Amino acid sequence: MGTTKPTARRVIAGNWKMYKTRPGALALVDTILAGLPGVAAEASLLVFPPFPSLAAVAERCRGTRLEVGAQNFHPATEGAFTGEVSGAMLLEAGATHVLVGHSERRKLFGEGDEFLARKLTSALGQGLKPVFCVGETLEERDADRTGDVIRRQVERGLGELGAAESNRLLIAYEPVWAIGTGRTATPAQAREAHGFLRDLLRSRWGEAAAAVPLLYGGSVKPENAAELLAQPDIDGVLVGGASLEGPSFLGIARGIPG
Ligand code: PEP
Repeated sequence: MGTTKPTARRVIAGNWKMYKTRPGALALVDTILAGLPGVAAEASLLVFPPFPSLAAVAERCRGTRLEVGAQNFHPATEGAFTGEVSGAMLLEAGATHVLVGHSERRKLFGEGDEFLARKLTSALGQGLKPVFCVGETLEERDADRTGDVIRRQVERGLGELGAAESNRLLIAYEPVWAIGTGRTATPAQAREAHGFLRDLLRSRWGEAAAAVPLLYGGSVKPENAAELLAQPDIDGVLVGGASLEGPSFLGIARGIPG
């Protein structure tokens, strides 16, 4: 069960949510860029700014190893979808990645498995790399349903996607009870869920599953990141609150165990 990751695969991703107007976003990205020389070369760094700052942040990151993603998009290529943004618009703004299935989108904006499956297919079809988020609520964990929930979200979300598409996909395990709560999953809990996730992917894609980066998310901070990142099958972290300040985001990135 599970695999040990190659050192070359550590993704440190920051989800800025609905924080930072443009000056704050640019100041944050400048701090991160200035700190990059202190971060191990094998780490991939990724930030998800709010839409209005996306193009400006991407422009600042051009030619650097810091990549930029969007927090959301609509799966249709275009149309009468007031307030929505298409994949082509994200690419034009300089995004390479997009979050899909974050628990805040699932819970607060009613995005269900079927819609998320459309988003994944659309993102991959347009050349965006989706970071697909899955994870159970506290109620589901307490009822011993963590595995069932992860399995359902993965099976319905990934649908018929084949091994060929898997090399542009990242998956984040984010237990809902750990997001923004200060309550992090223990390394053992995270390891167990990630091993389960890897086995699910292996049963569908065989050995290609080993190359899919699996990120842990939920109250990651500089103090707990290294231990989480040292676990088998944890290939990176998706960070909310602690990604909003340059020093803490860089502290997490610098803590990558060798
Ligand atoms: C997130 O928003 O994906 C997240 C993990 O947030 P936090 O790190 O604040 O728990």
